[in-house]
Amino acid sequence: MWPQFARDKGEPKHHYSTLESADDTTDASSEQRYVCRACGVPVTTATARMSIGGRAEHTFANPGADVYTIGCFADAQNLVVASEPSSLFTWFPGYQWQVTICAGCGLHLGWLYTAVNRFYGLIMDRLYLQEKPP
Ligand SMILES: [Zn+2]
Repeated sequence: MWPQFARDKGEPKHHYSTLESADDTTDASSEQRYVCRACGVPVTTATARMSIGGRAEHTFANPGADVYTIGCFADAQNLVVASEPSSLFTWFPGYQWQVTICAGCGLHLGWLYTAVNRFYGLIMDRLYLQEKPP
C-alpha cells in the first residue's frame, strides 16, 4: 500500500519518522548466518560455532591430499547425511564421520561427527557469512 498524502489539508505529516523509530529489532534477528556459497540456503549461524580440541577451526588434508579448513558447529540445518558412519581416517579421534551435503544443491559442505556428542565440521570456503539486513 502506498502512503496517502492529505493534499487538501495543507498540513505536513510527520508520522513516518515515528514509525521508523518504533522498529524494535532484537539480537536474535540480527544474527549472522552461514549460507551455502553455491545456492544460498541457510546452513548454520555464527552463534553455533564451537571449539573441538580447543579450536573452532582446523585445517586437514585427506588421503587424496585435498586440504580443507573445517569450522566446528554445534548445530546446522538444510544438510543431508549422505554416507554411513565411518571412523576411517577420522580427523577427530573417537568420532565417526558422515558426509553431509547441501539440501539445496547437493554440494559437499562437510561432515557430521558423532561420538558421545555430535557436531558438524563444515568446509569454511564453501560457506558464505551473510549479515542479516537491519
Ligand atoms: Zn547449496
